[in-house]
Amino acid sequence: MAKIKMTTPLVEMDGDEMTRILWQLIKDRLILPFVELKTEYYDLGLLSRDKTKDQVTVDAANATRRLGVAVKCATITPNHARMIEFPELTEMWKSPNATIRSILDGTVFRTPITISCIKPVVKTWLEPITIARHAYGDVYKAAEMRTDEPGECTMTFKGASGAEKTVTVQKVKGPAVWQGMHNTEDSIRSFAKSCFKYALDLKQDLWFSTKDTISKIYDGQFKTIFDEVFENYKQDFEKLGIKYFYTLIDDAVARVMRSKGGFIWALKNYDGDVMSDMISTAFGSLAMMTSVLVSPDGIYEYEAAHGTVTQHYYKYLKGEKTATNPMATIFAWTGALRKRGELDGLPDLMTFADKLEAACFNTLDSGKMPKELAALTGDGFNATMVNTEEFIGEIASRI
Ligand code: NAP
Ligand code: MG
Repeated sequence: MAKIKMTTPLVEMDGDEMTRILWQLIKDRLILPFVELKTEYYDLGLLSRDKTKDQVTVDAANATRRLGVAVKCATITPNHARMIEFPELTEMWKSPNATIRSILDGTVFRTPITISCIKPVVKTWLEPITIARHAYGDVYKAAEMRTDEPGECTMTFKGASGAEKTVTVQKVKGPAVWQGMHNTEDSIRSFAKSCFKYALDLKQDLWFSTKDTISKIYDGQFKTIFDEVFENYKQDFEKLGIKYFYTLIDDAVARVMRSKGGFIWALKNYDGDVMSDMISTAFGSLAMMTSVLVSPDGIYEYEAAHGTVTQHYYKYLKGEKTATNPMATIFAWTGALRKRGELDGLPDLMTFADKLEAACFNTLDSGKMPKELAALTGDGFNATMVNTEEFIGEIASRI
């Protein structure tokens, strides 16, 4: 069989631990036999980041800007425990995802992979719900303090022009806690653009929710900017018959629980953090959640939502078989290959992505699945637990 040809390379970002093992297995067994794979390879493994003083992460992000589509393996974000585990590290490097996000200025979209033998906790959900989380500012870049006497707190903005603006936050009679947070209109606008573009891409309705009845200026400005940006996309939405729908966050929560799914739910940073864990758990498992970073100018970086699955890696190093679920990582590859095919006009590459996903679903439907998924199937479903390599082998035999 002739292999499927590519024209533009994908940016390939390799990573760490168990997901790095999965990465190689997926390439060797599921992609390279069928596709003449073209990638620009960047090793984002922890020690390679250290050796290059994290330049490799910046280079990978810039390559993504240039080539338009990337696929990324999960990576370790070093913390104090990792500094002890890897004494050769010269610095506690920042999260690669944060570095890439700041260079691509993107929004993260997370969608559960749903399968018929695992029913969502919410019975009415028939289609996946995608969370679009704003990834800048608010409580994640806040200044905080505690005070222990009566007094008054004010908030002052000093303009570059020399003009000042001050508001009273509160007068208090005793100990108190305080928080000052911000967002920028540029970032909110990018967020809005990415969301409208992604809704057109998926041909799904876009919901957006904040608490603008209480936070009239802060959340109110999010709503206003979304309304303004939507004007540029309105006609395209009408053409596809999809809707943009704004509602208060508490109303949105109630509606989501009664919905059939099949839409994108855009949320501010904190709301998105909380709701994405709720959505992924209610649909099944973190190992079945895909993630794509989309920049407002239409650049795509695909990855799994989970981490490097460290505990499984330690077992693997001892020579034990693991049952790590490769689904989200495989879907990162299919997402990237399909997008490359779409941008370069390569229908065979897009069809290959569809077929690889179908082979995954087919394997799961046959009952062969990693342990953590088998535990989620309902009564009466006959699941056979397989290890990582066996599972990937089953998928390969079905492509
Ligand atoms: P994790 O790697 O997602 O794993 C947490 C637990 O979830 C695992 O121990 C495992 O549970 C289960 N799990 C996750 N993915 C699975 C899969 N594919 N198949 C089967 N089970 C799966 O999160 P973590 O342990 O908190 O973080 C580990 C490392 O990943 C950290 O160094 C962190 O910095 C990094 N991380 C990277 C990213 C990223 O690159 N995007 C995201 C998050 C975390 P059991 O052990 O019970 O089987
Ligand atoms: Mg979280």
